[in-house]
Amino acid sequence: MNTPTDKILVVEDERLVAEDIAECLRSVGYDVVGTAKSCAEAVAQVEEERPDLVLMDITLRGDVDGIETAQILKDRFSTPVVFLTAYSQKTILDRAKVVEPLGYVVKPFDESSLVSTVEMALHKARVDAALRKSEEWFSTTLRSIGDGVIATDEHGKVRFLNKVAEELTGWGAKEAETRHISEVFVVRSAKDDSVISIPAIEAMETGQVVDLAKHAVLVRRDGSRIDVNDSGAPIYDNEGSLAGSVLVFRDVTEAKQHEAEMERYREQLETMVEERTAKLHWQIKMESLMTSITGNLLRLTAENWREGFNAALERFGAAVDLDAIAVWRIENDPESDQTLMSREAGWAKPEFAHRDEEASRVPVTKMTWLRSRTDETGCVAISELSEMPAEAVVEKSVMEAEGIGAFVNLRIEILGEDDDVRLTLFAYVSGPREWGEDNLVFFQMLAGAYKNTVERVAMEENRLALTEQLHQSQKLEAVGKLTGGIAHDFNNMLVPIIGYADEILEDGGNGDYYSEVTEIRRAAVSAASLTRQLLAFSRKQVLQKKQIDVGELVGGMHRLLERLIGEDIRFKLDLDHGDLHVEADRGQLEQVIMNLCVNARDAMPDGGDLRICTKTGLTAEGGVALRLEVADSGSGMSKELIEKAFDPFFTTKGMEGTGLGLSVVLGIIEQHNGTVEINSVLGRGTRFIIQLPADLSKKSVDGVVDVKVNAKARSGGGERILLVEDEPGVAQFVSRALARNSYKVEIAMTVGAGLEAFNADPDRFDLVLTDAMLPDGNGIDVVNAVRESRPNMPMLLSSGYTDDRSYLDEAQNQGVPFLQKPYPLEELYSSVRSALDGAPIDVELPA
Ligand code: ADP
Ligand code: MG
Repeated sequence: MNTPTDKILVVEDERLVAEDIAECLRSVGYDVVGTAKSCAEAVAQVEEERPDLVLMDITLRGDVDGIETAQILKDRFSTPVVFLTAYSQKTILDRAKVVEPLGYVVKPFDESSLVSTVEMALHKARVDAALRKSEEWFSTTLRSIGDGVIATDEHGKVRFLNKVAEELTGWGAKEAETRHISEVFVVRSAKDDSVISIPAIEAMETGQVVDLAKHAVLVRRDGSRIDVNDSGAPIYDNEGSLAGSVLVFRDVTEAKQHEAEMERYREQLETMVEERTAKLHWQIKMESLMTSITGNLLRLTAENWREGFNAALERFGAAVDLDAIAVWRIENDPESDQTLMSREAGWAKPEFAHRDEEASRVPVTKMTWLRSRTDETGCVAISELSEMPAEAVVEKSVMEAEGIGAFVNLRIEILGEDDDVRLTLFAYVSGPREWGEDNLVFFQMLAGAYKNTVERVAMEENRLALTEQLHQSQKLEAVGKLTGGIAHDFNNMLVPIIGYADEILEDGGNGDYYSEVTEIRRAAVSAASLTRQLLAFSRKQVLQKKQIDVGELVGGMHRLLERLIGEDIRFKLDLDHGDLHVEADRGQLEQVIMNLCVNARDAMPDGGDLRICTKTGLTAEGGVALRLEVADSGSGMSKELIEKAFDPFFTTKGMEGTGLGLSVVLGIIEQHNGTVEINSVLGRGTRFIIQLPADLSKKSVDGVVDVKVNAKARSGGGERILLVEDEPGVAQFVSRALARNSYKVEIAMTVGAGLEAFNADPDRFDLVLTDAMLPDGNGIDVVNAVRESRPNMPMLLSSGYTDDRSYLDEAQNQGVPFLQKPYPLEELYSSVRSALDGAPIDVELPA
């Protein structure tokens, strides 16, 4: 049973007794490490030898007795002790008990009781040591657990508190032990602060493991609170009866915080998703709105696009929750040097509508900052006025005065728009507003839609105008053809009328009807001039420049003009007759005057004054000029109108006008190397000033009005003339008139018949007089065929109008003179005579 390695120290001040004991113990195998006589010796030996057991005499020599020494050894080395005592005195034994000796050996002892007592003591010591070790192990374990651990006895008294529990509860183990757990571990509900039962107590009551309710808060000793999570379990002893409980808990503040953070994060995520979704919805809504708006705009026409755009602005304004939105036109007026603003289209909430009412061209203060910012970036968005820099003083005060809190301003650049004009899309709200990139995109789309609409409508208008012009010119072409045809027949009729009248007047004999025939002739001559104007209009006339006294010419038109302008207009002539002549085509000048008078009449629908005056002027080069003025007291013309008035087809009269009047005037005057100028004051009238280069030396040559019979110029000497003319009236008159003057005339009514007669005997004729427009061809064919066999054959080409001017050029190249229908008798005679005599005739072809 004894362990040879058990070391024993004997403390006995009586040397013999000590040796006796040592001898006895050695004899049974113990290792007696030594004997000590005093406390000091004992302590020194224990320190050195670390015996497993000390046999200690209670009575020792010196100050310190055995009991005290045993206490010292126990405290310092935990060495177990067996006391040796001679007597078992109650008082001494009571003292000795405190040291918890493992046994007593009473002196004198016998060997066997000594050995068995030592043996027992050693066994107890070993058991104690093992127990202590395991206790230490447990308590170390409990202490080092990360969670708080509190153990109670079966009454709920605290028996153990580890470090963590101390920290968490704020109770030191010493103070806590023996208190009831409900004092040390106070938990409340995080929700309603109610006291929660402690799981450890519950566990004892139910005999089961109990978890703490969630969201428990531990109220610490100092009153501060921490979130805890715990569980309790009952403790049973070996016999299975309840011995207490153990409570394990931990601080979950951090975990709770983490959880709360997670929760916040999740919420953030959710709101983010919600916002995104809302944004997406909004974007989809806006996109479909824009699609619908642009779709509608595409259907607009020049007549209704403004209303249509207003409607678009209204829809947009309502969707984006604006107070007002409009497209503004801002222009510089060079005349007043002002900036004018006008509204092109717009919408405003009723309470903001008032200020948009003055819509047209109001002078405004120049907002330089806003303008240059908008020019630079295309779009300026201000969320609140204080955002604008100091230099935007004007902008700030204007916006403030208008009650504008936030605004967006976008530039709209329209193709072909003048540099002085700018269009902007301006939207505002009265309070501050964060516009946001996504929003601005839609403003930009809207501005783009405006631009597209305006450009498209303009293009369509332009196309319509072009189509209109095309129709107009096609109509004119048709009218021209018709006029030409009528003029041709008319001229043919006028030839015999004028001719016979001339014959009667020339005879002079029939005095009774002289004045009547003169009137017939005058009427016929006016008719001839009317035809010429019709031809000038259709540009089919032959330009014949002669020296003309314009004063006289205007005087001659007096009656015609009066009829033209009607009764409401007072007509005044101020003519300078006499020395000043211009080289011009009479018919064309008449056309010029007529056009100007018609325009003057149109400008005075309620009547007024029309004054035509001629006088001496100066050309730009300083030469002498004829100055012809046509002035009215009508509506007048603006600068823009004057600039466009001469454009062909430009008219302000809609379907009533052709837009050709002034373009014809300009064309004719330029053909005569002259100039046209307009002086006008809006509302007060217009004056057209025409200057034509003039010649002081020349005199008027005018063969239409006056009949000057020259006997020599007309007389024939039996010359044979081939007359090719399809119009019987003309043929008859001409052949009669020529026959009366001793010419021999043969008539052919077609090109074919003419050439047949000629070719039968080319030498039979001295002159061929042919009309240009013949049923089977043109007079020029006759000329060409005749010239082939007789290159020097005298010929005359006559016509009232020209459908195709190329033959006139050809005739001129061939040296064939032209006789314009209707001609007075005198002109017929002189033309025939000069052709026969080879004398040149003054004919100029139209340019
Ligand atoms: P139309 O008379 O067919 O319109 P015109 O070429 O004769 O064409 O004139 C062009 C335009 O010039 C007119 O439509 C008119 O607006 C303007 N105009 C011409 N003459 C006058 C005038 N005397 N007073 C005012 N406006 C005029
Ligand atoms: Mg006109």
